[in-house]
Amino acid sequence: DAPGLHLPFDNSYARLPERFHARLDPTPVAAPCLLRLNAALAERLGLDPAALAGPEGVAMLAGNRVPAGAAPIALAYAGHQFGGFVPQLGDGRAILLGEVVAPDGARRDLQLKGSGRTPFSRRGDGRAALGPVLREYLVSEAMAALGVPTTRALAAVATGELVPRERAMPGAVLTRVAASHIRVGTFQFFAVREDIEALRLLADHAIARHYPEIAGAERPYIAFLRAVVARQAALVARWMHLGFIHGVMNTDNTAISGETIDYGPCAFMDAYDPATVFSSIDAYGRYAYGNQPAIAQWNLARLAEALLPILLPENGPGNGEATLEAARAAVGGFAEEYEAAWLDGARRKLGLATAGEGDEVLARDLLARMAANGADFTATFRRLGGAAVSAEGDAAVRALFADPDAYDEWAAAWRRRLAAEPGEPAARRAAMEAASPAYIPRNHLVEAALSAAEEGDLGPFDELLAVLSRPYEAQPGRERYAAPPGPPAQPYMTFC
Ligand code: AMP
Ligand code: MG
Ligand code: MG
Repeated sequence: DAPGLHLPFDNSYARLPERFHARLDPTPVAAPCLLRLNAALAERLGLDPAALAGPEGVAMLAGNRVPAGAAPIALAYAGHQFGGFVPQLGDGRAILLGEVVAPDGARRDLQLKGSGRTPFSRRGDGRAALGPVLREYLVSEAMAALGVPTTRALAAVATGELVPRERAMPGAVLTRVAASHIRVGTFQFFAVREDIEALRLLADHAIARHYPEIAGAERPYIAFLRAVVARQAALVARWMHLGFIHGVMNTDNTAISGETIDYGPCAFMDAYDPATVFSSIDAYGRYAYGNQPAIAQWNLARLAEALLPILLPENGPGNGEATLEAARAAVGGFAEEYEAAWLDGARRKLGLATAGEGDEVLARDLLARMAANGADFTATFRRLGGAAVSAEGDAAVRALFADPDAYDEWAAAWRRRLAAEPGEPAARRAAMEAASPAYIPRNHLVEAALSAAEEGDLGPFDELLAVLSRPYEAQPGRERYAAPPGPPAQPYMTFC
């Protein structure tokens, strides 16, 4: 074993029965070259950044060397893709090396994405292109800095191989870090096979890992369902308040941990429009910005269905109707949880420390006026902090509206509401700016960074990543990263 490369593996998922996964090593690549290593994240995980950046570390991150203590597996799962059920998906281009337990006790999956074919690859080549790998790195790290539960990026390695896409692209491997890779679709995989023993094992595993507080509950599985619902409601509310569009909210991309997972065609909105869709494969707008809460709830209904075989017995014989009702109520609870989380976030964005009757109407009125006036989502909310303290700040918001009067009318109502608030304007501004970032991964900036990277220049990527690591702080000299772009010449499109 190489000196320096010792990872604190403890592979609980690999210890689950064989039908949960397929054991196989990553497929080696021709010429691994470390592109970027997330040293801060490595340290938090209890890993030595210098060892990871050394030859043995890079070989591991490329999939060319399986480190001691790893138990590489591809995970089995199913899923509803765009509403259609696929009984077997699984990790087609990812391999879970294992779980590392950090000094703080937190357990994290280390997964290589783009690491070669697996028994679940179907027609895919098992590989990932450099652009999408760097995109996931950038956007997932931005989400983490924004305070959103998310998988993380530990490293990106170039493979020295080409992958055939619309054209041949340079290949890369992403090392993804996640609380786990258990999805709604993992439960569906066993439910469709009527494998009740596996469902119970999986639920117990997920509870122990992500919801230990309910392990001792009298009816742990219904408590589990409610807990997953609560985390998804909180998560999607966070997305909505950042203008984040996941793009492919299939049930296999809905993590039981409550983390954002699978950064494929995701993107942030510039001008506010709830119908915004970026993904080239989302022809009907199923995963449009404004649909995300309803889709999350739909996905949770699929989780409830998958759990029924273990929910029924825990509720006792003869209680079938009551069990169905409890499951329905748990999923129905999403709406309330989501609305509460959303309103809470909206109040913070509007500088309201207290709860008033008309707050939701006030917030929705602003959004409606933004939509009608093509106002930039991120800039409008960010600049509102300035509008809370000065006329100059107010003018900066007005300027974002095609018809500034539409903003002025709303702002008059907002000021009347603010008059009922305690606290000083300066403190209000600070609180507002802590709820509305100046910097998000804007599409034109991400595209420019990825194009440069494909030409071998990681400078723009590094600069953007640095800006996005402090999204709520004003960064003098970096105004262009906060500025809304002009209207696009062509609608922005993402691919996965
Ligand atoms: P996604 O839309 O990224 O969630 O992927 C859906 C399914 O397609 C998952 O089972 C992936 O593992 C699989 N998949 C995506 N891209 C590839 C690829 N290049 N090779 C093999 N499988 C893939
Ligand atoms: Mg996926
Ligand atoms: Mg994907």
